[in-house]
Parts: sequence; C-alpha cells; structure tokens
Amino acid sequence: MSTATEEHTHTFQAEVRQLLDIVIHSLYTDKEIFVRELVSNASDALEKMRLKQLTEKDVFQPDRELGIEITTNEEAKTLTISDSGIGMNNEELVENLGTIAHSGTKAFLEKMKEQGDSNADVIGQFGVGFYSAFMAADNVDVHTHSWENGTEGQTWTSDGASGYSITDNAEAQRGCSIVVHLKEDMEEFCQDARIKAILEKYSNFVSFPITLNGEHINKVEALWLKSKKDISEDEYKEFYKFTSHAFDDPRYTMHFSADAPLSINALLFTPTENTEQFGMGQMEPGVSLYCRKVLIDAKPDKLLPEWLRFLRGVIDSEDLPLNISRESMQDSALVQKLNGLITKRYLKFLEKEAKNNTESYEEFYKKFSRFLKEGIATSYEHQAQLAGLLRFETSLNEPGEITNFAQYIDRAKEEQESIYYLTGMSREAIESGPYLEAFKARGLEVCFFTEPVDQYVMEALPEFKGKKLVSADRGEIDLEDVVTEGEELDSKKRKKLIEFIENELSEKFEKVESSGRLIDSPVAALTPKDAPNAQMRSMMQAMGQDMPSTKATLEINPRHAVIHGLSNLMESDKETAGLVVQQLADNALLSAGLLDNPHKMTARMNVLIEKLVK
Ligand code: ADP
Repeated sequence: MSTATEEHTHTFQAEVRQLLDIVIHSLYTDKEIFVRELVSNASDALEKMRLKQLTEKDVFQPDRELGIEITTNEEAKTLTISDSGIGMNNEELVENLGTIAHSGTKAFLEKMKEQGDSNADVIGQFGVGFYSAFMAADNVDVHTHSWENGTEGQTWTSDGASGYSITDNAEAQRGCSIVVHLKEDMEEFCQDARIKAILEKYSNFVSFPITLNGEHINKVEALWLKSKKDISEDEYKEFYKFTSHAFDDPRYTMHFSADAPLSINALLFTPTENTEQFGMGQMEPGVSLYCRKVLIDAKPDKLLPEWLRFLRGVIDSEDLPLNISRESMQDSALVQKLNGLITKRYLKFLEKEAKNNTESYEEFYKKFSRFLKEGIATSYEHQAQLAGLLRFETSLNEPGEITNFAQYIDRAKEEQESIYYLTGMSREAIESGPYLEAFKARGLEVCFFTEPVDQYVMEALPEFKGKKLVSADRGEIDLEDVVTEGEELDSKKRKKLIEFIENELSEKFEKVESSGRLIDSPVAALTPKDAPNAQMRSMMQAMGQDMPSTKATLEINPRHAVIHGLSNLMESDKETAGLVVQQLADNALLSAGLLDNPHKMTARMNVLIEKLVK
C-alpha cells in the first residue's frame, strides 16, 4: 500500500467531543462569528510566519506571499479560507485540531452544564475558536503544509462528530486552507456579498492582504495609529474582539499617544469580564508590542507587569529597534521604561474613571480588584497609586456603602496618624469580634477588608499618603483613654488577678495586661506586630506551611462584671476560677481566629456547666 494515500483515523479527545456537541446544538444565533474565528486564526498564523522569516533560513516555499485568500462556491456550497502562514505538520494537526490544550476549556464546559439551555450566553462569553466552524459546517477539510522544510503536506477531515482522519497531501501549499462544507440551512455563507459584509467589520485590522473571490478587500491599517476622533465606538469594539479573540465588549478603551520621553502609540482595552473569575486559569498577557506597525511580539511577558495581564491591545513604539529579538526585548531597558510609563498612565486613567464614573468603576472593581491587589503586593513602585484605587466598607459606613483611603483621611481628625483596618471573612465576622469596640468608642473609623488575599495585601502596604496603615487587632496600638461606664477593679486586686491569670495561661499567652481599650468584652487576644494573624494563618495552613507558634497578649477589661466576679472567685474557689480563666482565654482566641485546638474547650465547658447546675 502506498503511504501517500494512507488514511489515519483518530477519535477526538473527550472534551473536544463535548465541545463540538455544544457548538453544533447550541442556540447561539450569531453563527457568522465562525468566519471571524477562522480569519483571525489565519491572521495569527501569518504573524507567526512573518516572525519565522526573520529568524529561520530553511523555509518551505520561501517566496510564497503572506496573505489570506477567501473563496465562496455556491454550487459546491463551500467557503474556503486559505492562508500562507506557518501551517501545521502531522503532530501539530493532532495536537491542535484533535485536543483542547486550552486550560480554560474544562471550566467552559462546566459552566455550560451549569447553565443548561441558556448556552448561547456562555458561548458568547468564551468563544471556541476553530471548532466554531461546525456551527455552519457538516464537514470541514484542512489542507496544510508546515513552514518547515522536510515535512509532509496533510489533509485533515472531519464531520465534527466522533473523530477525524488525516491523509498525506502532496499538493498542499505552505499554510492552511480550510474548506467549510456548509450545512443546508447555512448556505448564506457561500454568498460573496454575505461574506464581504462580515469581513468588512474587521478585515482592516488584519495586517495582511485579504482577497475575496479575487477581489482585494482590506486597507491594512493600524487602528492605533489613527487619530481618536476618526475612530468610531464600533471600530474599537470590533478591533478588540478580533485582535484579542474576545467575546465580550471592552469595558474601558484607552487610546493615547505620547512623544516624550518615548514615542508611544497605545490602544489598551480593559475587558468586561474577568475570565479568571470563571475559574479559567491564569490569563496570558494580551498586549502586543509593535514597532511602526510591525509586530515584534504578540504576547510579550515583560511589556507590562504580570498583574496587568487582563489588558488587551497594542503598544507601538518607534523607539524600539526594528530588529530587536524577542529574547533581548524581554530585558531591554527600553521595554522596562515602556512598562513603567504605560502602567502609570493606565493607573491614572483608572483614577480618573473612579472619580468621574464612580458606579462603573465600582463594577470594574468588583471583577478586577484581585489584580490591583496583586499589584500592591508585588509592584512597590506603583503601590501608592494602587492603594488609592482600593475600595472597601468601613465601620462608619452602612453595609454596602463603599469608600476609599482618601475619603477616610478627609473624615479623620487631623492629629490621627494612622489608618486603622481589620481583615476578616465578612463584615459581620469583623463586627462581632472584640477589636472594633475600642475604636468605635473613640469615634475612630476602621476599614474592613473581607477577601482572603486582603491580609497578605495589607501586610505589604505600609502607608497611604504618609498615614501608617495599622491593623486594629495589633497589641501595640496606643489609644487615648475614654470615659466608660463601670468601676475599675482597684489596683491591688487587679495586680493579684493578673498574676493569677498569667500563671494559669503561661503556655498560651506572652503576657496579660489590663486595658482601657475594651468596652463590652471582658477579654481580648491581641496578636503581636509582625506575627501572622487569623487570616494569614488560615492562608498558611491552606498552603501547607508550618505555623509559627506566636503567643498573643491577653487584655482584660478591668471594668467588666466578669472580671470583677473572677477576682472574687479567685479568693473563694481557685479551682473553678482557673477553669473560668482557661475558658475566657479560649473564647478570646476563638474570636481572634487563633484557637488551634477547640476540643478541650467543650470538655471544660461541660465541667463548668456541671458546677453551675449542681
Ligand atoms: P486558539 O486559536 O484559541 O488557540 P483554535 O481552536 O482556534 O484555538 O485553534 C487551535 C490551534 O490550531 C491554534 O492555536 C493554532 O495552533 C492552530 N491553528 C488554527 N488555525 C490555524 C491556521 N490557520 N494556521 C496554523 N495553525 C492554526
């Protein structure tokens, strides 16, 4: 048997079958997006080819021009999209068009299942690339030859059901030629006028010539170099969707140019959706680097800080040397400079949005705050700007009411040197803890941070505009005395009681102090500065790290009835007083989230109850 005509059949990976099933049966009405997906893949393959030509000498069909040819055939009911890009060899075909390498696709499929028959929305959010062809096709052929000399041409064929076959194809040209055999009710897609109308929306963003049935149809223009006033909202939208393979609209569009200190033309999109929130895994950086319209790198790692990986778009700088290689680009001082400049500019843009369009900024913040917080923890040079962009509730605001550090400082008394905050699982959890009351009684506002990452982020943020950021559960805070109700235990009794408690708790606490800060609670556990507090500990636990055994300080409230009672009990029944001390201490550790072993607590409680009811 001649190997040239040998056919190899393959079954699709289970996820691909699932995906195809959804694509084929989906109610998604916007079927034409498959054309955009295929043209966009062709354009990507051509960009990659252009880069290959810069570095590789041994290329298959080196003189073949870079471009996209689209043909329609009403008789055969086909639409063919051909590019002269990098193409695929046999292995790549199997890998790219038989499996789903994309880590987010599992999450996508999960979401599909969850949403039942409202599938259309979900497809609208994610997009499915090449496989979307099967929305319109009952068969797809891919004729392809890799850019690499010495590889074989291939034809991949599938009906989008269970599998596909691959045969050798000696005629295949470099690149990919995708033949879409249209379903009966999809014949509109073999009409020249219909395809032309679709292409008109975005073909000008493709930086290679596109022809439709021989007619040249795009102008090849770089949108980012045009003047803002000549660009319509729709053009921005289409550009975003086309170049970023995005399925949402841009939430923010920032288009600017600068001459000094670097010449920059930048067009940056903030998406509506944060796909990391859907559990789609970490996003890849999505801002491409160009020099005078020529792509240098489609997904450069270091062009922007990692926490801006959600941005999409283009940065074009004339100051970059055209022949800069991707490797040297990563470390070039110029790229670092671009990084700093553009990050600052973007943060300024957000500041303006936050001020002028508060509501939509808060929407953005709900979905993207994680990235800003990541920035605070990792980019010292942008910390001040990022801290100003944080939003949160505070003890003086109603639940749901949002504020920021600048407003906090405005409200605070001039002599207040610190900004106080508490972290916790929720507003309720923070409010029911023992720390807030002291601040409330003194009219001091406390900021609430309720996301798991917050503890970590706040530890990384030492100050805002010269005011120290201080966690309100720390022991070292000096609060002015306030007049509070109830008589203090006299100093002799107090001293004796503290000695007794210290003796009982020497294993659990560093020291015991009488305090003026407590109002309604008899005792509170305070973590020493620099020691991990409750949230930090649960994060460390989750990461499997060893917990340092830090001893907290126990503060007692000398005015509280329980403390008065305990002082008397200590004289009359030392044993029960000891149990009460242990129990109070565990209560304090529990509400501080520092109690590691709650079992003893229940047993002791039972003994105390027994004493009470006897
Ligand atoms: P995505 O484009 O999001 O990676 P697709 O399902 O559209 O997902 O395509 C899968 C892969 O198949 C692409 O990443 C690419 O490697 C390859 N591919 C698709 N179309 C082409 C093409 N026209 N030329 C070369 N490779 C292609």
